[in-house]
Amino acid sequence: MFLRQLGWNDFFAKQLLDGIPGRVASSNREHFLIWTEDGEVEASVRGRLRHSSSEYSCEWPCVGDWVVLRETAPVIDRVLDRKTKLSRKQPGKQMREQVLAANIDVLFIVSGLDRDYNPRRIERYLVLARESGERTVVLLNKADLAEELALNLDRILSETGRLAPGDPVLALSALSGDGLLALPALLAPGETAALIGSSGVGKSTILNRLLGQERQRTHVVRAADDRGRHTTTSRELFVMPGGWLLMDLPGLRELQLWADPEQVDGSFGDIQELARHCRFRDCTHTSEPGCAVQSAELDSGRLANYRKLQRELAYLDRKSDVRVEREEHSRWKAIERPCAAIPSAIRLEQSRRIRPKDQS
Ligand code: GDP
Repeated sequence: MFLRQLGWNDFFAKQLLDGIPGRVASSNREHFLIWTEDGEVEASVRGRLRHSSSEYSCEWPCVGDWVVLRETAPVIDRVLDRKTKLSRKQPGKQMREQVLAANIDVLFIVSGLDRDYNPRRIERYLVLARESGERTVVLLNKADLAEELALNLDRILSETGRLAPGDPVLALSALSGDGLLALPALLAPGETAALIGSSGVGKSTILNRLLGQERQRTHVVRAADDRGRHTTTSRELFVMPGGWLLMDLPGLRELQLWADPEQVDGSFGDIQELARHCRFRDCTHTSEPGCAVQSAELDSGRLANYRKLQRELAYLDRKSDVRVEREEHSRWKAIERPCAAIPSAIRLEQSRRIRPKDQS
């Protein structure tokens, strides 16, 4: 395989000092399938990377990553800086980022035109998309059901278009194949796309159709673990006819946002534009007099969702700050502990000297 056909470019080449570069085609906890110039390699994570990160941390390799393998063994030593990353909040109580996929050029947000169609959910995905891919395309799948469900497709297309100004919105049917050919035309050879969307919207059907074969035949990879036992892992990256790559992210069930609160504003440009005309600069668009957002004829669901997403990300931001502070606190405690024998006045003086300015 030629690396450029897998997406290798100067951005990654500049970061490579030694070792063998490869792209993560699938990951299963500690086992990775890596595509290199010499073919497919099963690799694990060891050494410094193994000790400094864990399966859920941002430094851990994920599908789409470019990594550096040791010359002497199938071991991942380093993850190269990512061009883009698709993250979510780790499932559960942890207030941490989990990177699910990296280096995506085009993010396909898939929504079904059946019961799944929900503009609010599309808005949520659009916030996530701002950091995840270089370009975003919204796909409204199951267009074959439009007549049966008495849907006004033109109205839905223009409504969705208003949510994603500048991004293409396409209606298609993965089942009949109608509209599907528009997708490959959006990607150049070597570019990577990913499909995200709720379960049941037709992501696997789209992938299989575009791949031109049943994925099951190619999907499951048997990999040997450290003890020589065989585990099965799902391939997540596919080379499509035409030479572009498509990522399938089956694990994306729970979509809790992980993004900068400012990403919400970026996705709601219409509200931002209106807000410039509010009487008060710090208007919250709730009950202030002279609020241009409130007086505009804006879809009330959109405004409510804007507030909800902002609250959600602000909460995450606050909580992760609390966590950072807590971690910082225990770090300082650990540093100070060996000083227990030193009289407290000196200890205080010492900690003042070594603490960063904003902590003193
Ligand atoms: P995923 O969970 O997003 O991967 O969804 P799947 O590809 O497994 O599809 C879920 C269901 O929707 C399956 O029963 C598909 O046959 C059906 N489906 C997928 N695409 C279409 C479509 O374009 N039209 C219709 N009517 N059904 C579809």
